[in-house]
Amino acid sequence: MKMQNKAKKPHVLIFPFPGQGHINPMLQFAKRLHSKGVKVTMVPTVFLSKSSFFDSSASIDLCIISDGFDEGGFEQADTPDAYLSTFWNVGPKSLAALIKKLGHTAHPVDALVYDTMLPWALDVAKQFGISSAAFFTQSCAVNSVYYHVYKGHLQLPLRGSHVSLPAMPPLHVSELPSFVAIFGLYRAWFDVLVDQFSNIDEADWVFFNHFYELEPEVVDWMSKFWNVMTVGPTIPSIYLDKRLENDKDYGMNMFKPNVTACMSWLSGKPKDSVVYVSFGSVASLGIEQMEEIAWALKDRNGYFLWVVRGTEKPKLPHNYVKETSHKGLVVTWCPQLEVLSHESVGCFLTHCGFNSTLEALSLGVPMLALPQWTDQCTNAKHIEDVWRIGIRARPDEKGIVRKEISYGA
Ligand code: UDP
Repeated sequence: MKMQNKAKKPHVLIFPFPGQGHINPMLQFAKRLHSKGVKVTMVPTVFLSKSSFFDSSASIDLCIISDGFDEGGFEQADTPDAYLSTFWNVGPKSLAALIKKLGHTAHPVDALVYDTMLPWALDVAKQFGISSAAFFTQSCAVNSVYYHVYKGHLQLPLRGSHVSLPAMPPLHVSELPSFVAIFGLYRAWFDVLVDQFSNIDEADWVFFNHFYELEPEVVDWMSKFWNVMTVGPTIPSIYLDKRLENDKDYGMNMFKPNVTACMSWLSGKPKDSVVYVSFGSVASLGIEQMEEIAWALKDRNGYFLWVVRGTEKPKLPHNYVKETSHKGLVVTWCPQLEVLSHESVGCFLTHCGFNSTLEALSLGVPMLALPQWTDQCTNAKHIEDVWRIGIRARPDEKGIVRKEISYGA
């Protein structure tokens, strides 16, 4: 007797916001799904697919959509407002066209996992009657703050120095996401983060990129409203459970990593002797802050590996790279997981992006927190006071962390 046709593989689209900190966790989640026999397609924007560095071994299919800025992406728009309003107009049509096109192939789309920063993607999924999961790339504490703003429980601008929210430690205003603490500044991004909740009740699932034990109270609290699942930390498998063979990178970089330079430089250094410094893919530091960090690393007795993106490089003191070459390496991008897991790295001076935080936590590297904006101040609070895996450097009255760093309240 002939075997019946094997059950068709379900086809899931994974749709991240086009930024490094969003693509990494969602691409990693895609790889995990793929390893379970699911057909997975990532959906980057046209510009990202043209400009990024993909690792072909990731074996995930790509289908592109337009954000309206196919030639230059975010940088092509005059303002964040211009970028977002164009994307919000072009994106839904482009995503719908893609789902429709795939509907005429052997693999129509069964489900969409969308970044919560793109809530209109859920409306598109509903239009086609496919299943949906909302994927949050920020911490539950941060999501909870925006949820309370959305619901009107947290009135802005804030009054008083502290905020008390259900299932969370009391937060000083300076420990809230900066878009909330400094209401009105970065209004376009603030609106995007609050709007994450505009239709989320319609999603079949709500995924968080961490594990339950990290924020059990908030997860339990959110589970009262939604079908919640903690699916993280979404870190390449080799650093966690090793269930996926050869899975040591996320698989996509918006900047070209200086892999050989970094790893051969690290290889000669004594255990725990190197401070690794990075402020992620977006944060832009003031010149005064850059100089304080530069002098602190130069004066310190020990090595440093500092990621300074091309656009930040002009802020370094004159001749700095040459003058510090006996103890420091400055690169424009590095393989961060490989660096953090290297035994010569003893400390991570970080902006506290949520991915960097989860990576340092997973690899056991203590953090010196120097948050800059958005969710990073809330992450830094948790790093120091809740998870106790690092300490915060305190800024002075001008908002600058000086080279004679001060810690504690
Ligand atoms: N990253 C990297 N190389 C670098 C700096 C960062 O691969 O030189 C990766 C890092 O491992 C993390 C992501 O870029 O996964 C940055 O995300 P995060 O949430 O920490 O910060 P963001 O860039 O979103 O501010």
